[in-house]
Amino acid sequence: MTDMKTEVLECPYCKEKLEKVTFDSIDLAKEPELKKLVMNEELFAMNCEKCGKKSLIAFPCLFSDSEKKFLIWLLGGYTEEEKAVLDKDLIDSAKNESEKEVAASYNKRIVGSINELKEKIIIADDDLDDRVIELLKVLCVNEVIDQLMGVTLREVRYNSTSAGKKFLVLIFDEKSPSMIEINNQMYKTVKNMFGEDIKQNTPKEGFAEIDAMWAKNVIENSTKGLPGGKN
Ligand SMILES: [Zn+2]
Repeated sequence: MTDMKTEVLECPYCKEKLEKVTFDSIDLAKEPELKKLVMNEELFAMNCEKCGKKSLIAFPCLFSDSEKKFLIWLLGGYTEEEKAVLDKDLIDSAKNESEKEVAASYNKRIVGSINELKEKIIIADDDLDDRVIELLKVLCVNEVIDQLMGVTLREVRYNSTSAGKKFLVLIFDEKSPSMIEINNQMYKTVKNMFGEDIKQNTPKEGFAEIDAMWAKNVIENSTKGLPGGKN
């Protein structure tokens, strides 16, 4: 389902009131043009006619994909209370057993930024499991941590090329990003190794927060005794 509306929002630079087309929900499988605008961020862009500046607005929106079977809430800087409301809505919206089954078969996520949303979509497009990717990120960073002295690692993002090359982008505060190429073997190894932990640490109901914090928690509490885990 795709729900469009026009809102009056404030330019974050000069506070000018601007009309902005926003969406409550977008079905990405049915709206390839909107999906393009998500991936190039134009969907979130607001151009101010007064100060001439462009800003990105992460308006609250539920992104769904009936082919890749996911529901992703984009909710900038959400609170636990706001998440609880969405989780309850999700449970209440499934009115009968077959609707409950459909809801259960979808991967349900909540993200707080446009970057996280785009990453989740890329991972789904590559037919990968975002939980395995988050674990892989933490393990890869643990491998190179000794070489990262004196720099602050801000975030790690998954990406891939149209030729199928997959990599992690390490983004630093002080220097330009570096890349770690990942291959299918690494992915499979992590998936097999943490299969049971992944299952146990995925909430059965509601929108799951699958991020670096989730992955660190899984690794620390894993029974596998891996580097970076409990010694
Ligand atoms: Zn402005």
